[in-house]
Amino acid sequence: MRYSQQTISQEDCKAVEEVLLSEWLTQGPRVLEFEELIANYCGASYAVGVNSGTAALHLACICLDVKPEDKVWTSPNSFVASANCALYCGANVDFVDIDESGNLSPEKLEEKLKHWPPPKALVVVHFGGKSCDMEAIKSITDNYGIKIIEDASHALGASYIDNKVGSCRFSDITTFSFHPIKSITTAEGGMLVTNNKNIASQAKSLRHAGFVNGRQHCLGFNYRLNDLQSALGISQMKRLDSFIAQRYQIAQEYEKRLSTIVETPHLDHKSSHHLYVIKTNKRDQLKEAVSGSQVHYFPIHLHPYYKKLGFHQGQFPRAEEHATKCLSIPIYPTLTEKEQSLICKRIEQIL
Ligand SMILES: *Cc1c(COP(=O)(O)O)cnc(C)c1O
Repeated sequence: MRYSQQTISQEDCKAVEEVLLSEWLTQGPRVLEFEELIANYCGASYAVGVNSGTAALHLACICLDVKPEDKVWTSPNSFVASANCALYCGANVDFVDIDESGNLSPEKLEEKLKHWPPPKALVVVHFGGKSCDMEAIKSITDNYGIKIIEDASHALGASYIDNKVGSCRFSDITTFSFHPIKSITTAEGGMLVTNNKNIASQAKSLRHAGFVNGRQHCLGFNYRLNDLQSALGISQMKRLDSFIAQRYQIAQEYEKRLSTIVETPHLDHKSSHHLYVIKTNKRDQLKEAVSGSQVHYFPIHLHPYYKKLGFHQGQFPRAEEHATKCLSIPIYPTLTEKEQSLICKRIEQIL
C-alpha cells in the first residue's frame, strides 16, 4: 500500500490505445485538447502542457525572467522541485516559514520582507491540496513587485474563494503535476496555466527547443508532453471531480475515527485532499506500523544538497517541527472502507 496511487479505468486504457494505433504519438491534437480542458476547468486563459511538474516550474521561472543573482523564495515544506526551479536559472533560493496548515505563512512573509531585499519571485505551494491564503500573499507581494508562481502540484481540483486553483487570479503562473500520486495522472506530465498571452507563447517555445515558426529564437528544452499522455489526461479529467469527492469522503472518515487520538488536519471542503497529514509525537512508531505512510515533508533546506548551499537546522523552526510530527496516511479514490478501517485500527493500537 502507498499513501496515494492512480485510478485507471478501462476507458483510460481505450483512450491511450486509440492514440497508440494512430498517426500521432508525440505532441499533437490530444495535447491541445488536454490543454484546453485544463485551462477551461481552472478558468485560466492559457495552458501549456509539459513532461513534468518540475519542467512546468522551471519554465515558469524563466518566463518570469528569473536570472542569475536573482532571489526566489518558497516554502521549506515541499518537494525539492519547488526550490530547484530557481537554481536551474542560476538564481538564489531562500525560504519563508509555514503556518499551522503547512502552507507558507503570510505573516512570516511580511516579517521577512522587513529584513531582506525582496525576491524577484515567490513560489507558493498548496500543501496537501489546501490553497494558501493567496489574497493575503498577493496584497503583501504587490507592494514590492514580486511575481507569484503557485506550485499547485497537490491542488488540481481544489478551490480558493470562488475560483478553481489555477485561475491565476492572485498569481502570474500556476503549475500542475500529473505524476501517478496526484489528483489525475498522465504517468509523467505537467502543465502551466496563466492569463498572460506572452508567458504562454514563451513557455510553448521553451518546451520545444526554443522554436517559433520553425526557427530557434531562444535556448529551449525538450519538455514536450505527448499525445499518449494527454489522451490519458483527457480521460482522467472526466473523473477528476469524483476522485476529489472520494478523497473528501475518506478524509471525513479519518476525522471521525482519529480526531480524538491524534492531531488531524482542518477539514476544508475546498481542498483537493491530496494528502491526509496527521501530527503526533509518536510519529516514528506510527510510520513503522502504517504501511504506505510517509513524511511530507523533510524540509528542503535540510537536504544534504541544500545544506551544502549554506542552510542549516534552526532557520525555519515551524517547518522543522512539522517534519518531526507529520505523517501522511493513505488517501486515494480506490482505498476501500476495509483498508481504511484497518489503518485506523493500527493507529488506535499504537496510541
Ligand atoms: C509532485 C510535485 C512536484 C513535481 O512534480 P513532477 O511531476 O514529479 O516533476 C513539484 N512540487 C510538488 C509540491 C510536488 O508534490
